[in-house]
Amino acid sequence: MTNKLKYFIGNWKMFGDFNSFKIISKINQYAKEHKNAKKSKIVLCVPNILIGFFRKRLKRKSISIGAQNCYHEEGYGPFTGAISAVMLKKMGAEYIILGHSENREEGETAKLIKKKIVSALNQKFNIILCVGEKFIDKKKGKTFSIIKKQINGSIEKNFNTNKIILAYEPVWSIGSKKIPKTKELMNVIRFIKNDFKKNFKTKNFPKVLYGGSVNKNNIKLLSTISEIDGFLIGGASQSSKKFIDIIKNYYK
Ligand code: PEP
Repeated sequence: MTNKLKYFIGNWKMFGDFNSFKIISKINQYAKEHKNAKKSKIVLCVPNILIGFFRKRLKRKSISIGAQNCYHEEGYGPFTGAISAVMLKKMGAEYIILGHSENREEGETAKLIKKKIVSALNQKFNIILCVGEKFIDKKKGKTFSIIKKQINGSIEKNFNTNKIILAYEPVWSIGSKKIPKTKELMNVIRFIKNDFKKNFKTKNFPKVLYGGSVNKNNIKLLSTISEIDGFLIGGASQSSKKFIDIIKNYYK
């Protein structure tokens, strides 16, 4: 049920400017020099305005750069302020986060996310699809049904599921310093893997990341859940030290 390569994916959210290159550069240096990093896939999903700049400045790239969202229409068109998957790809992004709860909160529906997935797949992006329940849903015992609906509502059976990584991010855990209980988290990850494999008739289990308040202190506990294929890291990815400490402690 586990996939060996571990993912450490940073989600910078609304953060960063030209000076933030030093954060990327230090993480890249770490990835280059440490054998643990070789067992890991390190990706930094940064604001669109920085993707091309970071890609150009990064020499001997040991990490990948990703985007955090894209517009649902493809190519170029009369959509003021919008950025399409093709534009992000041309800037050098290789990964893309879609369906983040902060975007869902602004009205992004499963139908819209499906269109974004299609356009990202057409550009051969590696997609990180975020799913997760709100606290109220958890209380009502709806975690599994919410996740199932989010996944099945935005992925079609004929999609190239090899390009889709799932990120389980309980909404109540994002930025709250709270993480799920180990047993509960393990059960959700197992549920996602089994249900996905069954529903999409895939040969292998999908990769499933955990995201929500991951830091250097709780990573050791999270590392005991072998079903987790990696982590989507928000706040702590905005500091090279905090991000690198998470990777270091994971392998300790
Ligand atoms: C996120 O927003 O994807 C996230 C995981 O945030 P944080 O790590 O800050 O909880």
